[in-house]
Amino acid sequence: MQRVIIVHYAEIALKGGNRARFTRRLADRLRQALTSAGVDAGVRTENNRLVVSPREGADPVRGLRAVLRVPGVANAAFAVCVAADLEAMKAAAVEQLAATPPGVFKVEVRRADKRFPGTSIDIARAVGGACAAASGRGVDVHKPEVTVRVEVVPGSAFISAGTLPGPGGLPVGSTTRLLAFLSGGLDSPVAAWKMIRRGARVSGVHFHNRSLQGRAVLEKIEDLAGVLAWSSGTFPLLVVPFESCQRAIVGTVPSSHRMIVYRRAMFRIAARLARIERALGYVTGDSLGQVASQTAENLFTVHAQADMPVYAPLVGSDKVEIIDRARQIGTYDISIRPHDDCCSFLVAKHPAVKSTVEELTEMEAGLDWDALVEEALEKVERQTIQPDPDAL
Ligand code: ATP
Ligand code: MG
Repeated sequence: MQRVIIVHYAEIALKGGNRARFTRRLADRLRQALTSAGVDAGVRTENNRLVVSPREGADPVRGLRAVLRVPGVANAAFAVCVAADLEAMKAAAVEQLAATPPGVFKVEVRRADKRFPGTSIDIARAVGGACAAASGRGVDVHKPEVTVRVEVVPGSAFISAGTLPGPGGLPVGSTTRLLAFLSGGLDSPVAAWKMIRRGARVSGVHFHNRSLQGRAVLEKIEDLAGVLAWSSGTFPLLVVPFESCQRAIVGTVPSSHRMIVYRRAMFRIAARLARIERALGYVTGDSLGQVASQTAENLFTVHAQADMPVYAPLVGSDKVEIIDRARQIGTYDISIRPHDDCCSFLVAKHPAVKSTVEELTEMEAGLDWDALVEEALEKVERQTIQPDPDAL
């Protein structure tokens, strides 16, 4: 009998060669996450599932935690692997169920090996009967508190109880890269995470006004990157000095429109960074109507400055949903740490809720953008952030 972590993936549309590529990539991502977690384990595929086998001395709980952060994982559970023999399955199921909190249960059987005698229902009945007798627990197939899973593959069976949900989505790929704007607030890390979950490689960029903001915000951004890196493998982070841009903008743009122009300036600089990072789009934490700069009119003029698609995966989300997600992915506690926000630098108390590209172009006309962009680019700092061991 061997103790393993059994990993399922979801995407039902996967077919043929796609599936093979998907599972290979997911296996690689799992290996990477386990290595980052310091968990020595083997990863192999087994009939539409992946099996993680922690080696002697490895911490399986840490292994499971790392696995549950990896995009492409629909769910995962500790399981025991026994011989494909009904008595062995029953014994293992009784043991697995005993380790779960009390409550009614059901047995779910999947037979990847159709040669195994009996139907799935026959097996479920036999295993369920043994579990009920040994535990004294009731069976409820409609609303179980615990589900015991029996997965029969050629030669063996995996028995688990208490499957935990993973992030779903797609394993992070090798080509598509996006540049995510990270402000240090609640929204932008969640937005970046959502795109990582869809398989994109993401680099983060933070615009930083050194004369205004302390080190604290940079530490926040690095800590957020250390959390996101559990999902993406590693997380490249670019910090761009923004003080010259902001000073120049304050000199010519009325306070009502500065926020919008700051954000447009970010896209001017990002266009050059995207070439260097080979990114194909941008990610922001914009949510429609949340603040003055996020009315449809202002999102229009801000995003109009972008030279590539802007992905704003939270655009239709409420704050409560975003907060729930931030808690779930582990960015919430970092995001709520107080920090100085560069975008509030000398902006009006009641900023414009509408703007047009024409009026902004006029306001921006007196600025030497080439020089400002060059200066910012010269002092960009790039680092590759590894998954933070304390954030697992
Ligand atoms: P967040 O919670 O992500 O800070 P927000 O609701 O506070 O967002 P804004 O401050 O208007 O909204 O910023 C909107 C988006 O612009 C952010 O989600 C982020 O993607 C980007 N952004 C704002 N400030 C910065 C910055 N200093 N560096 C990088 N990106 C920024
Ligand atoms: Mg913000």
